[in-house]
Amino acid sequence: AAHHFSLVQEFIRSNPQSQEAFQQAQLILPGGNTRSVLNATPFPLSIESAQDAFVTSVDGKRYLDFVSDFSAGLFGHSHPEISHAVETAVNYGFSLGAVTRKEAKLASTIQERFVSIEQIRFCNSGTEANIYAIATSMAFTKRSKILVFSHGYHGGVLSFGAGNQALNIPHDFAIGVFDNIEKTRSLISRDLAAILVEPMQSAGGMRVASREFLSFLRTAADETGAILIFDEVVTSRLHYNGLQGYHGIKPDMTTLGKYLGGGLPFGAFGGREDIMSQFNPTSSISSESKLLQHSGTFNNNVFTMSAALAASKIVTPEEIQRINNLGDRLRERGNQISHEAGFGSELMIIGFGSCVGLYFANDPDGILRDCFYFSLLRAGIMIGRRGFLMLNFAHTDVLIERTLVALQDCIGVIQG
Ligand code: PLP
Repeated sequence: AAHHFSLVQEFIRSNPQSQEAFQQAQLILPGGNTRSVLNATPFPLSIESAQDAFVTSVDGKRYLDFVSDFSAGLFGHSHPEISHAVETAVNYGFSLGAVTRKEAKLASTIQERFVSIEQIRFCNSGTEANIYAIATSMAFTKRSKILVFSHGYHGGVLSFGAGNQALNIPHDFAIGVFDNIEKTRSLISRDLAAILVEPMQSAGGMRVASREFLSFLRTAADETGAILIFDEVVTSRLHYNGLQGYHGIKPDMTTLGKYLGGGLPFGAFGGREDIMSQFNPTSSISSESKLLQHSGTFNNNVFTMSAALAASKIVTPEEIQRINNLGDRLRERGNQISHEAGFGSELMIIGFGSCVGLYFANDPDGILRDCFYFSLLRAGIMIGRRGFLMLNFAHTDVLIERTLVALQDCIGVIQG
């Protein structure tokens, strides 16, 4: 605790401009920012600029960035090809209120990756994508109950115990225990419209669902007529064909977002053609089905479509595998370092591929987690405050080695 106190004091002393920015912002923005996930004690670092794998704060300090915009920053900052696409779009007019050829092209690049997606629609965030997927499955099944899971996070208004801000849309939710077949079985019923699950919980702490659990949900959906929705907003970065491809399990619908928009605001929901054709005014949907509306001024906005198309060329199976390997190395070597220092029962490094989570076993108040956060900052490394490292294409072997050295130093210092 004494160590924690001195780390916080040092943080305050070395970041006067961030503190000042926070105090000013608080006067007008409740909490001093407009993303609750960025709330931080004593105040968050204010970032001035970023390039490749690094961010620079308003206090002029440069950090190796492992936040990677909560996984959306898959390409590193200001990737030249994405920047070029956005700069080009500026010159062709960007508030068109019209169909362009870009959206169908983008849809094809996504369809090529995810075999379960026969048709797709775009929106502006992962939250929106999940709300639409839920509404779509309710319309399709004419049922209202949705099965979700403990610690699941599907957006600001669809949060089931991941983080402490629960502001949920009114809905008929049944909450199963994540990755636990026995404790979920009793919730499977014929009144379920949908089963909504993350193949790996991200905000919930990088907890990977077993293949058995996901297959159980596939069978449960088949038996009850519920729509199985995989939220791959984060996990689609872990395999070229998503975790659905990795496991060989085909959901009825998939929600996407984050990096697939090239770092710009993005969401998408798609899946079986018979479900998605509810949105098609020219389709011969059955007489008892209604035509569904999905509008949105910015659904096909030119900047996102352009950035996403450029990004789709950069996302290759090889690059995904390369950073998954970097993540594996961080986990293996990091756990070894922690173990050798006699710290193995306190800190476990978990996750899957490029999504790395720090799990502190005996740390109810988050003191130890904060000590790691502030010690790593002092070493010029910025991780996610709640204890995660998201790898991106700007990360290299050398940067990972540097991070492992810093981790070893931190453990040494924290142990005193
Ligand atoms: N689904 C998952 C699994 C997420 O992790 C997130 C965001 O963190 C969302 C949905 C919501 O996406 P957005 O922040 O774009 O609304």
